[in-house]
Amino acid sequence: MEFDLLVRGGTVVDGSGLPGYRADVGVRDGEIVEIGRLRGSAARTIDADGLVVAPGFVDHHTHLDAQMLWDPYGTSEPQHGVTTVVMGNCGLTLAPVHPGGEDAIVQSFVRVEAMPRAALAAGVPWGWRSYGEYLDRLEGRVGINVGGLVGHIAVRHDVLGEEAVERAATPDEVARMRQLVAEALEGGALGMSTNRNDRHFREDGKPVSSRLADDDEFFGLCDVLSELNSGVIETIRGLHQPDHIAWYDHLARRTGRPILWQIVLHRWAEPDLWREQLEGIAPTFQAGYRAYGLTNTVPIVNRFNLRNGQVFDEFRTWKNLMFLPDVVRKQAFADPETRQKLRAEMETPERTVFHRRWDLVRIIKVARPENAGYVGKSVAEMAASRGQDPLDAFLDLSLEEDLETMFWSSNSNGDPEAVGEILRSPYTLVGQSDAGAHVQFDAAFGYGTTLLGEWVRERGVLSLEQAIHKLTFQVASIYGLEDRGLLRPGYAADLAIFDPQTVAAGEPEWAEDYPANTRRLVQPSVGMHYTVVNGQVIYADGALSGDLPGHVLRGSAYTGQPALAR
Ligand SMILES: [Zn+2]
Repeated sequence: MEFDLLVRGGTVVDGSGLPGYRADVGVRDGEIVEIGRLRGSAARTIDADGLVVAPGFVDHHTHLDAQMLWDPYGTSEPQHGVTTVVMGNCGLTLAPVHPGGEDAIVQSFVRVEAMPRAALAAGVPWGWRSYGEYLDRLEGRVGINVGGLVGHIAVRHDVLGEEAVERAATPDEVARMRQLVAEALEGGALGMSTNRNDRHFREDGKPVSSRLADDDEFFGLCDVLSELNSGVIETIRGLHQPDHIAWYDHLARRTGRPILWQIVLHRWAEPDLWREQLEGIAPTFQAGYRAYGLTNTVPIVNRFNLRNGQVFDEFRTWKNLMFLPDVVRKQAFADPETRQKLRAEMETPERTVFHRRWDLVRIIKVARPENAGYVGKSVAEMAASRGQDPLDAFLDLSLEEDLETMFWSSNSNGDPEAVGEILRSPYTLVGQSDAGAHVQFDAAFGYGTTLLGEWVRERGVLSLEQAIHKLTFQVASIYGLEDRGLLRPGYAADLAIFDPQTVAAGEPEWAEDYPANTRRLVQPSVGMHYTVVNGQVIYADGALSGDLPGHVLRGSAYTGQPALAR
């Protein structure tokens, strides 16, 4: 046999951004060996007529550090064409750790990333110390490729213990942390992540440890990546302030490493912020430094009713009402004077996360059959059809239905023009699936299938070639994944084979596949026919194969030496 796998007759969109072309792809020993009109025999042939053959997607912003230990596919990654994931974002990792230090790490994961504690307790077989040893634990046991950043939170706990959430580090402690970061990179980490988000706490209400780092510590650790000439630096700072851009610029210039910062989104409440962010970071790139803003293809969504909604918590009267018993709240919602107060609060000029636009709040579920016609309409449309003011119509409908009416609201990514500009910017990196996190609130494995279905096919804001470049070669290049993200002879045979006419992400669904019988959301896809990892078909026609061909992808500073004794 000339080939182990032959993908015949598809349109090759190779990740470079060049126009797609009709060709066969031949695979042997896990690598692409030939592309073109191929005549050799093959152990397995895939008919890709009408399908696109692309490099497998790289989901670079995940929190699958724990899940990969019990779910070797990081489900639902393969369903969306993802063949490589990067773990360890936002400062959170399961290593380095010393015996007895595990709970400090778990506390941060459980709160910041909203993971069920019972699942972590039952599913994480602790026993490693260094970051490299953690990666070793995954070697040979994964169905997709994994790489990881070392998390500042774990590094700080390993040196300061519980005092990591209490105080600044001494120069001697900073030196020991620097040693741990170097050891992690030499053990294979693809970079380092940190968390400076002032809304990120542990379960016990204390700030996550990386928030206590002063500049000497923070820049001292980042300098290690510069000294080793290896790895990316991933950061999250929370609410966006103008001085954040200057800080990313400083970090990029100081280290010469690629900086990744969160997040660039179109927001109705601050409709020009994304433009200010992208204009702000342009001089960094023009000067020859890299500081990419992360962006996403899906909106951040609130689904709520007036029994439990938190959407209006920024408005005092609204918030107070939501904490009252239902009976009292219903009386208040019916009272004209209270309505006047609610209306007045919404008309103040302050910036709020809630966009205050009734055309952007939709009705998604009604309790009474006679209201079925409202489903799918905005509150503004529903009010117009009733000849009412929107606030009155919103409250009246809810009262008629005993507060059971379900609404949908989103502040982000609603303006296709703006999202198109953000996606096309050379200074953004697409993907913030947060896979493995917030598992009971949302599942966003499908940011790539959404990019291809909604933003390429339906809205036409990017070409297919540009979109695939964004999902593959761009990410692989920034993360230093040398033989991934392109279809070329000699590159790893990681493939996503899909129908460009139908590819899309499905609605999240509940699954009972987490440890300790905890529930979580998974996400199906449409139109993704095959996912191939290192030459093996792991996903075909809706089913996973059970094979484990994934590799642990290690960074350029990897020495292959066991961790130093500490
Ligand atoms: Zn994250």
